[in-house]
Amino acid sequence: MDPTLWQYQFRVIMLGDSTVGKSSLLKRYTEDRYLDSINETVGVDFYVHFLQVEPGVRVKLQFWDTAGQERFRSVTRSYYRNSAGALLVFDLTNRTSFDHIKEWHTEVCERVQPYKVLFVLVGHKCDMDVHKERVVSREEAEKLALLLGVPYLEASAKTGQNVKAAFELLARGVYLGLMSGEVEVQEGWDGVKCAAPLPLQAHKTNTGQPGLERKSRKCCA
Ligand code: GDP
Ligand code: MG
Repeated sequence: MDPTLWQYQFRVIMLGDSTVGKSSLLKRYTEDRYLDSINETVGVDFYVHFLQVEPGVRVKLQFWDTAGQERFRSVTRSYYRNSAGALLVFDLTNRTSFDHIKEWHTEVCERVQPYKVLFVLVGHKCDMDVHKERVVSREEAEKLALLLGVPYLEASAKTGQNVKAAFELLARGVYLGLMSGEVEVQEGWDGVKCAAPLPLQAHKTNTGQPGLERKSRKCCA
């Protein structure tokens, strides 16, 4: 199958204060690279990654990497509404970035209505644990995650730990929402897009699996 063919496209936004490592997480996930001196994000950057969420179902993940600084906030805000998922990132060695998570979460929830965004909370730079530089404990991060009703993971773009897991937890969450009807493809909303029926049609005849046919109809009806 052509690796760039996709049945669904999910838009995912990266949120969190500047320097928490949003761009580094994306670089690790999409290019499997880590740079110690990465360029500061100005405005918004785009990244793409293809993920097979189940046999024969390929999702194009389109990431919007935002600049955390207040001066770019108005740019960032304009992207919330068309996102299906958001990775909320704080730096485990930076308490202020953790304190700001609630604000990021509230701001997004308020602005995306009537649509919903799925979140995953990431405590980032967990490689710094060995240097005893952590200032936010796993317990308090888990408490916040519980309060917000979102899953929590600790990751490191530097070592690669849990990077795939974090992005894929989010992507699979959106996919499951789509399959259960909680997330819907809608006119005028770019959070989730459906591909042209052709690849799905080909896929349907190839697999002959009734479950997948049902899903295809949901997408392209
Ligand atoms: P952004 O502003 O949130 O996009 O953050 P960047 O990705 O630009 O990273 C900010 C700084 O944190 C850079 O100097 C990175 O090298 C550093 N950094 C990013 N990821 C990690 C990580 O996993 N561990 C450590 N120790 N540092 C990291
Ligand atoms: Mg950045």
